[in-house]
Amino acid sequence: MAEKTWRKDPVLKKLEAAEECLWINPDRRPFAEAKKDLPLGMQDMEEASLRLARFAPLIEKLFPQTREAGGIIESALTPIPKMQQRLLARGTAFPGQLFLKRDSDLPIAGSVKARGGIYEVLKHTEDLALQEGLLSKEDVSGAGNPQAYLALSEERAKTFFARHSVQVGSTGNLGMSIGIMSAALGYRAIVHMSSDAKQWKKDLLRSRGVTVVEYTSDYSEAVKQGREASKQDPMSYFVDDENSRDLFLGYAVAALRLQGQLEAAGVLVKEDHPLFVYLPCGVGGAPGGITFGLKQVFGDAVHCFFVEPVQAPGMLAGMASGLQNHICVQDLGLTGKTEADGLAVGRPSGFVGAVMTTILDGACTVQDERLFSFLRDLYETEKIFLEPSACAGFRGLSFFAGERAMAAYLQGAVPAGAMARATHLVWATGGRLVPDEVRREYLSIGK
Ligand SMILES: *Cc1c(COP(=O)(O)O)cnc(C)c1O
Repeated sequence: MAEKTWRKDPVLKKLEAAEECLWINPDRRPFAEAKKDLPLGMQDMEEASLRLARFAPLIEKLFPQTREAGGIIESALTPIPKMQQRLLARGTAFPGQLFLKRDSDLPIAGSVKARGGIYEVLKHTEDLALQEGLLSKEDVSGAGNPQAYLALSEERAKTFFARHSVQVGSTGNLGMSIGIMSAALGYRAIVHMSSDAKQWKKDLLRSRGVTVVEYTSDYSEAVKQGREASKQDPMSYFVDDENSRDLFLGYAVAALRLQGQLEAAGVLVKEDHPLFVYLPCGVGGAPGGITFGLKQVFGDAVHCFFVEPVQAPGMLAGMASGLQNHICVQDLGLTGKTEADGLAVGRPSGFVGAVMTTILDGACTVQDERLFSFLRDLYETEKIFLEPSACAGFRGLSFFAGERAMAAYLQGAVPAGAMARATHLVWATGGRLVPDEVRREYLSIGK
């Protein structure tokens, strides 16, 4: 481990002890300043958004469940007042109103990975199709020619894609997103699954014709093996969750969509109407991309917090120590093991950590037991089912009563009196594809 930049942030002691904790980012800066140094900007997000719009007719054709939304893969924003009451009854009080962003119901992949993962496969597909003459330069620039993309589902294109493979390392959900989309386009899809991956996710992928390679090691190792395997094959493309800008931008587009949904719901977001967002974090790509996008849209009026399991707080460890991806949770004596399979990542993305340095507001950790209690409470009160990883965000709500670090943060970051007008958004990241018998099992845990 590199010694030179190791910063002895007091939160590291709590991480080592696997204690639940809140960390406020001491390096965050006003967004107007921070954005000048970011490697990506609003224009990159808008390009990504246009690309998804160009693909919409093709998506609609390949996945009829997206017809109503015109081939746009998006989830609902829902107020959850009954859950808010339940949390209050359990002692979690916070000022303002509670909403759920339901990426747990995203079509096709059933998780937040339907944003980044599918976007990257489409971006790669567009690049290949352009080279092969399946699409023209005019088709793929700006608003382009969405109807031309329908040709990508025809025989000639499928035969072409079948000569190419797409590979990825995953704890489960990224593999499902990349695997399902790649297979639908005709690629040879190969998913390298870590030991954390649930059996039903592997079974589902195999049923779609995806090759699943299983490892007895963790996520970082599955990614490494996948990257190597892909290097050996000149016709193979590797989706690199630890470094990919395309994944990141696919996630970031969520912010542009959320902006419209908040407006439609009559929710005002300004500095004196703050928006607090709680994002489950694994390697960092999904919560990082969404945070980056939200800051571009709402600036300092949005406050973003990552939530990680007490045994797998890789991103928090990287940011608090300043070591980024040069530290992993095993260096802190933690196991990296958690029931939250989507968050079972020991070493964070260095790329995302660097972008988050000045824009992330804070992060916290959560015990596994609590995830199942959130899962059951949400199902009982709102009839909404989430997988365990997707419940992590609820933990972020518990720091508004009696946590000194949060009180100090609010004093500096939110105008006096504005918290009464706050909106809290728990980002629900997965659950739709969980089979019934697994749902019943989750709902019975800790009862
Ligand atoms: C992948 C995942 C996350 C976190 O995303 P990262 O990009 O790994 O940080 C959160 N929740 C679920 C359900 C996921 O599958």
